Amino acid sequence: MIELRTPAEIDAMRPVGRFVAETLATLRAETAVGTNLLSIDRRAHELIRRAGAESCYIDYHPSFGASPFGKVICTSVNDAVLHGLPFDYDLRDGDLVSLDFAVAQGGWVADSAVSFVVGTPRDEDLALIDTTRRALDAAIAAAVVGNRIGDISSAIGDVARGDGYDINMDFGGHGVGRVMHGDPHVANDGKPGRGYPLRAGLVLALEPWFLQTTDELVTDPDGWTLRSVDGSRGAHSEHTIAITEDGPIVLTDRSFLGVD
Ligand code: MG
Repeated sequence: MIELRTPAEIDAMRPVGRFVAETLATLRAETAVGTNLLSIDRRAHELIRRAGAESCYIDYHPSFGASPFGKVICTSVNDAVLHGLPFDYDLRDGDLVSLDFAVAQGGWVADSAVSFVVGTPRDEDLALIDTTRRALDAAIAAAVVGNRIGDISSAIGDVARGDGYDINMDFGGHGVGRVMHGDPHVANDGKPGRGYPLRAGLVLALEPWFLQTTDELVTDPDGWTLRSVDGSRGAHSEHTIAITEDGPIVLTDRSFLGVD
């Protein structure tokens, strides 16, 4: 069921969006060559506790999950792109890191992800990250009253295809509100003018992610982490946005913190 939020409810979602933005900015600033993925999770846990927020991940146990996730942040490195379960690994020079973070605070959820390189970047990794960001910008620009879900999907797909990446249609964006995952699904490619009409009050997590040379994923033996089938690297950019009569509001915007 697709739920629409009142302007007052969208205002009530601003604090959790801001907390998610601040937390990702902090974690990114503190992550460098040598940082252990488990220490990122511990730090995220500390920030959640301090804010009186609640992790959406720690008890998360969908049908495809082997057991509850058990951590509060997804850390996907290099050929891992989604649902990366933090493990005992010290980041190395040139690693491509994606952090995906969702919490509830005051009864509302926000969900956001960022990709970056620690140490010396490879050009092809920066290009991939840049494509996911431009695809997210295009998706947000298409998230206006009068458009349809397919307009958001095709905006994402056009950017990816234009840069030569294939698109996986299994995992994409979603409604977000009282819980992390709701209707509608927002595929990362589609046809303009198709699908659910965008209305004021629709709150969505938009999340383009791409792999360098494939669109196929395999599940890691940890039961969670999704890796490219060919070992190529992946990147992921996600924001929670609210569609309003005055245009989209990016609830997890980090730009006011001076970071992208
Ligand atoms: Mg997310």
